Formats: sequence, structure tokens, C-alpha cells
Amino acid sequence: MTTLADPVPGGRPGDVERATALSGELAGRGVHGVVLAYVDTAGIGRVKTVPTARLSSAAAWGVGMSPVFDTFLANDSIVTTDVLGSPDGDLRLYPDLERLVVLAGQSGWAWAPVDRITQDGDRHPGCTRTLLRRIVTEAAEGHGLTFKAAIEVEWTVARGDAPGDAFVPATTGPAYGATRQVELGDYIADVLAACAAQGIEVEQVHPEYAAGQFEISVGALDPVAAADSSVLVRQTVRAVAGRHGLRVSFAPAVVGQGVGNGGHVHLSAWRDTVNLHSGGAGRYGMTAEAESFTAGILAHLPALTAVTAPSPASYLRLRPSQWAGVFTAWGRETRETALRVVTGTAGLRDRAANLEIKPVDLAANPYLAIGSLIVAGLDGLASSAALPDETTGDPVRLGETEAARRGVRRLPVSLEQAVGEFRADEALRAALGPVLADAVIAVRLGEVASVAGLDDDRVAAAYRWTY
Ligand code: GLU
Ligand code: MG
Repeated sequence: MTTLADPVPGGRPGDVERATALSGELAGRGVHGVVLAYVDTAGIGRVKTVPTARLSSAAAWGVGMSPVFDTFLANDSIVTTDVLGSPDGDLRLYPDLERLVVLAGQSGWAWAPVDRITQDGDRHPGCTRTLLRRIVTEAAEGHGLTFKAAIEVEWTVARGDAPGDAFVPATTGPAYGATRQVELGDYIADVLAACAAQGIEVEQVHPEYAAGQFEISVGALDPVAAADSSVLVRQTVRAVAGRHGLRVSFAPAVVGQGVGNGGHVHLSAWRDTVNLHSGGAGRYGMTAEAESFTAGILAHLPALTAVTAPSPASYLRLRPSQWAGVFTAWGRETRETALRVVTGTAGLRDRAANLEIKPVDLAANPYLAIGSLIVAGLDGLASSAALPDETTGDPVRLGETEAARRGVRRLPVSLEQAVGEFRADEALRAALGPVLADAVIAVRLGEVASVAGLDDDRVAAAYRWTY
């Protein structure tokens, strides 16, 4: 279980004792350091590390880190908002000991996600993990709802010996091809072994469509654990690649044209132990609540794009007929609508039915992405929003008139446009709070400015090895 209690100066009850015991155990297993991991507003994974012997101090008092990273861009330049981006101040990083694991792909290291609190012990309004914990807790306490989530991870495997920042795929052969599985079989087997050792429940791994591309999918967890897991999976996939002389990219697009790397989110809402996406009287077994939850996400999707597709490179991926789901439509098992209703196989539906959200990539901060999707769904629930008609096939073939008649919209075609939609979505901004919402806007506009005038290939190259 994820810890839903906020960190407090001195440590949450029991944490210091637990950390003291853990650090002895870790030292016995040859662990020298603990990675304290979080994801910034731009979607970059940032870390501090402490020697294993300092874990109990970290559990009690946190580890210092500047709040300036909340307005860092992917290229490490800094933008500012009214309250963020200044060189002043400090925050404390508190590891979630429930989620600490020994890293199987990096000898001598353990890893834990952190929440960030102020030196005075208050919630930091820029901490996305704290925000997601709060959204989940409030949904449970206020509405009796819980959620399960999983993030699919698509990535590109490149040769580690290519010159400079060039991209040379590490494997050849067709999509889903046996050739790729054979050529990179040792690497993928080591990824599976590392995931298993870390308690990550992998469901599938396969060669994907684009050059050098693979995908790993994991079992659904509570939303905070799912976001943590997505960070850990990427740390693992990258670390194991390094041991094989390979280089990986989770960027939405590693080249200017063609199919990119997605980070589709699977999400289901539950009341008590009942999956609301199954066994109901609505379409494909959805309950009325699941239909409204889906309608809420659909309605907020243009604004959500600023959160789920936060990089200029995201818009190289978000093009029609590339399975990225760029139209505000839904369909059962439809891979070109933004929302894919997954019913699961007969016999498994009460457990497996869920909603897949496709216009999400791995530049997105996973805590912010899942939290924003839940907020949008809950907004639909609160207003009993009606889910429009299903769309089958590729919405691109509808044509403008029919698309307009059905309320099917093309998602933003640029990050700038997405920011405009986000600015106009008061409910979403309010859920994030003014500090975080302003940081999202400032960071996105900073990214837009940083690639002004670049063509598609150069935009892809600018972010290729960043995520
Ligand atoms: N690579 C596609 C994307 O960018 C997804 C392919 C698939 O359907 O799994 O989202
Ligand atoms: Mg895929």
C-alpha cells in the first residue's frame, strides 16, 4: 500500500524505526546508497541520493532540495512564476519507505519515491506526488471511490556506440517481429529479471511498431503506486540497457516523422470492491457512473493535453493515424480514438474492464497526469455527464461536418495550443492549485520558446535523450 499520510518533521509514526532497520538490512545486501526520486513539472526525473546509513535521518527530517526545479525546463534552463523559480528557499524530500526497493539493474543502490514538504512541515503546493495522494484520498473519503491505474511504457532502444546524439536503432526487423526479440533477447530477459526482483508485475513485453521500439505493460495498482512504478520501470529499463551497451529513449518522438513512444494510461474507478466499468447497464457493461467518468475525461481532454503531452516533441507524436488517439472520441477497443473502452475478455471483465487514455506520453509527469485524469473523470461524475455516441474506426475519415455533428474535436496540434486550452479550463487549474497550474503554464511556454524556429527533426533531436 502507498502511504497516504503526509510526511511530518521528525518522521511519520514508525518511519524512523523502520528506516533504521531497513538501512541495516540494505547494508547487509551490499546497498551503499538510496536514490530519492521525483518528477518535475517538465516531466524530468530528478534525484538526490544519500548513503544507506543516512536513511533514518532522511525519514525523520527529509533531505534538502531547492524548489527551483519546479520551473526547470527539460534543457535545465529556468523560468519563473509569481512564486517559483527563485534561487531562495529549500524543501525537504521524504522517502516513501513503503515503496523502497533494492535496484536490481544498478548494483549498490536502492530507490524510493519522495514527497516534498516545506521546512515548516507544510505540503509543498508544487509537489505532484503529494497532490495525487490528496486527490486519491479525497475521492475515497468524499465519494467512496478508489481507482486502479497502469502506465504502458514504450521506449526506443539505440546503439550506445553511435556518434554524438545520433539515433541508430539497436535492432532491425519488423514490428512485433521475432527478429527483434532474438537480437535483443538477452537485454529484454535482463529487464524482466530486474523487474521481477523489484516486485514489478510485468504483464507483457513486446517489440513495438517504430524502429528499435519496445513496450512493457505492468499490472494495475493504486494510482500513486502506478505512477511510482512507471518511474521505477524507466529507471530499470535504462539501467539494464547501459549494461548491454545500449541507450534508451522514452521521448515522445525520437525522429521528426512517424509513430512515437506513448505512455497510455489505463484507469478504472471502483466503488468498494466493484469495478464501475463492468457489469453495468450502460454501453459495453459500463455503469452510469463509469459513463459519466469517461465523459468527464473526454470533455477535459484538450486542456489535459497540456499535462499528458507536455513537450514540443509530444506534438510530433500526436498526429492522426499513428495510434496516439488525437480525436476527442471513444470507442470499444478503438485504437485511434483518444479513449479506448477496454471491456476485457469474457470471464475476466469484472477485474479487467478499464478505460485507456492514449494521448499521454512519457514526457508527462505521471503523478500529474493520473491525478488530472481522475479530477476530470470526477468532474464528469459530479455533473452526471452524458457520454456521446461511440466512434468506430479512425476518426480522421469522419470529415469536418460529421466530426462537428458528433462533437469530435482534434486535440491541440501544438503545445502552445494546449496551453491555451489549459488556461481556459478553470476546473482543472483549480484542482492543481494556482502554484502548480502557473508552473505548468510557465514551463510549457518556456519549452515552446526553447524550440522556436526549429523544424520537426531538430525538435525531436532536442528532446531525444532527455526523457
Ligand atoms: N506507439 C503508439 C503511441 O504513440 C501506440 C501504439 C499502440 O497502440 O500500442 O501511442
Ligand atoms: Mg503500444
